[in-house]
Amino acid sequence: MHNATLGLIIGLLTSQVAILITTVYLHRGLSHKALTLNAKVAFIMRAILWITTGIRPRQWVAVHRKHHAYTDIEGDPHSPIIEGFKEIQFGNVYFYRKEATKPETIAKYAKDLPPDRWDKVLFDRALLGLAVGIAILFAIGGWEVALIGSVVHVISYLGLSAAVNAIGHTFGKRPYPNLATNNGWLAMITFGEGLHNNHHAAPTAAKLSFHAGEFDPAWLLIAALAKVGLANVRLKEPKFKSQTLT
Ligand SMILES: [Zn+2]
Ligand SMILES: [Zn+2]
Repeated sequence: MHNATLGLIIGLLTSQVAILITTVYLHRGLSHKALTLNAKVAFIMRAILWITTGIRPRQWVAVHRKHHAYTDIEGDPHSPIIEGFKEIQFGNVYFYRKEATKPETIAKYAKDLPPDRWDKVLFDRALLGLAVGIAILFAIGGWEVALIGSVVHVISYLGLSAAVNAIGHTFGKRPYPNLATNNGWLAMITFGEGLHNNHHAAPTAAKLSFHAGEFDPAWLLIAALAKVGLANVRLKEPKFKSQTLT
């Protein structure tokens, strides 16, 4: 296989793995406690997240919880309704970093995730994690695969994460009274995250598909982990928040 093709495939696969771990571990697990993962599984996901994104879970969780506390109103870290669609779709990472680096946001929204010894040694060192990730790509296919794979992964991961915040609050269906939207096509490439109106209506639900015709690919993994005792799903049925359009 040509190196460029291999790099493209590896880049897309890496970003999908990172999106899957983001939704299952960071989002549904840590942020909303919709499920609890077995400690070893959680650690593996934390390590993969570190080498694929460099994200510090406590920062992501704090920014995300603040987004739920101030959805599409003043105080939302990344609302396309406040900032503009293009600003969030193409600049989400800027808005994320701006909020993630505020100590008061971390102190208020991620009290339950103080840095542990692993964070101090490894996981708080984002650049080290990314360097390990790139070194693995280099070992697999040499510098060309590592370069193309990294670039494709970064564009795809940032683009899809931004799409959940931008498209997922602008275009699509709103079966529940909140400003987030459901987009089936986006859910297919973001492991269910595109069902964002459902998610804002019932944030503690581990499964994001609520209606016939909706599909949440990450639920397949969660259900499989739960079946073998590696995950615990908190609620059997989605618990809906009372919401009004603001
Ligand atoms: Zn949202
Ligand atoms: Zn959420």
